[in-house]
Amino acid sequence: MKTEYLYKTPKTLLNKGTGFLSGYSHSLNPYTGCTFGCSYCYVRQMPVSTFREGEWGTWVDIKQGAAEIFRKELKRAKTKGDVSIFMSSSTDPYQPIEHNEMVTRSLLEVMVEDPPTFLFVQTRSPLIRRDIDLLLLLQDRVRVSMTIETDREDIRKYFSPYAPPIQARLETLRLLKEANVPTQATIAPMLPSSEGFAELLRPLVDRICIDDYFMGDGSGGKRTRNLKIDAMYKELGLEEWYHPSAYKMLYNRLIKVFPEEQIYISQQGFEP
Ligand code: SF4
Repeated sequence: MKTEYLYKTPKTLLNKGTGFLSGYSHSLNPYTGCTFGCSYCYVRQMPVSTFREGEWGTWVDIKQGAAEIFRKELKRAKTKGDVSIFMSSSTDPYQPIEHNEMVTRSLLEVMVEDPPTFLFVQTRSPLIRRDIDLLLLLQDRVRVSMTIETDREDIRKYFSPYAPPIQARLETLRLLKEANVPTQATIAPMLPSSEGFAELLRPLVDRICIDDYFMGDGSGGKRTRNLKIDAMYKELGLEEWYHPSAYKMLYNRLIKVFPEEQIYISQQGFEP
């Protein structure tokens, strides 16, 4: 797939935390666009994508000079109160272009110099392991949330063929744990998984978040319906996994191996 990369100088980096992210003062997106291009990505339905010619997943804007702009914004925001940051709400901060561009790393460097009250890093990319040195400097002011929607690689390939393999994400969780970076496994959106999923996660994390299309797409499932994700489940013959109560099936498996207080449902699991 051909990808279009453009350099753009943003006016602002910090956006106000609203809706699903109302527990945060701000959200922070180092890029606009995301080459993981997951089929179910709700950003496909948002103006940032719908006003763009190319299909979601085929273009990325790289925020040029991001660290300098962010440094000033963060300083200003901190004079007004607590700053808690969700990174990122509409891109993956560790998508492949970050290998070379290091925009996310430059933002972390700013936060190490001038820490926010809390930083939540949402990714599905093993590249985050590169920045363990900086994450550790943020100590307990940071939590990494690694998306692992399923333990089944065939299912991952079907729904998000351009995203990193499950095994690499599990290995990254292991490394983050070993390094003592506060971490959670985020099963979102929950995809069909096997019976052994809970056991697989048990040695890797002490905190799990489950979310689905109905609770977590910010529109009660409407955005997902528009993306016709239900047809994908039908094609697989796995419709029982596409239902507002399907998450309970997974919850019942998790609760056999995780204490209740380590399992968070939907928005709770993303809160600071
Ligand atoms: S990684 Fe996240 S932002 Fe990127 S396409 Fe997938 S769901 Fe969307």
